[in-house]
Amino acid sequence: MEIYDMHCHLNEFEKNELEEIFKNNIKVVAVSEDTKSLNKIIELSNIYPKNVIPCGGFHPWMIKEGKIDEAKTVLKIVQKNGLKCIGEVGIDKRFLSEDTYKIQEEIFLSYVNLAKELNSMINIHSPNAWSEVLSILKNKEIERAMFHWYTGPLNLINQIISQGYVISLNVALMIQTKHQKIIDETPLSNVVLESDGPYNYHGIRLSPLMLYKFVDFISDIKKVERDNIILTTSKNAKKLLNLR
Ligand SMILES: [Zn+2]
Repeated sequence: MEIYDMHCHLNEFEKNELEEIFKNNIKVVAVSEDTKSLNKIIELSNIYPKNVIPCGGFHPWMIKEGKIDEAKTVLKIVQKNGLKCIGEVGIDKRFLSEDTYKIQEEIFLSYVNLAKELNSMINIHSPNAWSEVLSILKNKEIERAMFHWYTGPLNLINQIISQGYVISLNVALMIQTKHQKIIDETPLSNVVLESDGPYNYHGIRLSPLMLYKFVDFISDIKKVERDNIILTTSKNAKKLLNLR
């Protein structure tokens, strides 16, 4: 049975790790942050077409890395390749300072417009900017969007899912107790899973290989059989990505 990791920085894993991941029947949405990572994930998707779905975007954190000029270059590469997933893009009001908000919004809007043009899904990073991002998506009548590693307010979940958008649960929720209620509150019909690997969360190097353990964890909380969780989240993933 296949399982989908809907948000992973796959370009940062070693070759032997990639093979281990794919051996375990994991399909990975590989997100990009800048030009270099985007070129790498496109290359990986050519080498492993069955397991890697390329997702192109300019990460808001790249603004503070001084890579702001790459926002346009990345957009052009995504457009040229007609990628079916756009990300990691968004607005960050938790980790970035206020003087970047305006440019973050401009860049995000350019990618939202591209998603519209290409009829692609959007893979969104939106710490402390969840409602703002949601209204942009609604205004632009975006059909398929995913809130990556959602840790926003519980009362926004209903608004997100009533638009048909999806909440992505991160494997770190196994230890991120503060946000575990999100697992309870989001109906399985609007849930997908992710690792955000190899991000280091409190000393743990996140990896797609943690997905199976995470499924057991969700199974306990939601009182739903594990196979059902794998099947439903995979179905949701394919729908988001417009795969059959
Ligand atoms: Zn990420």
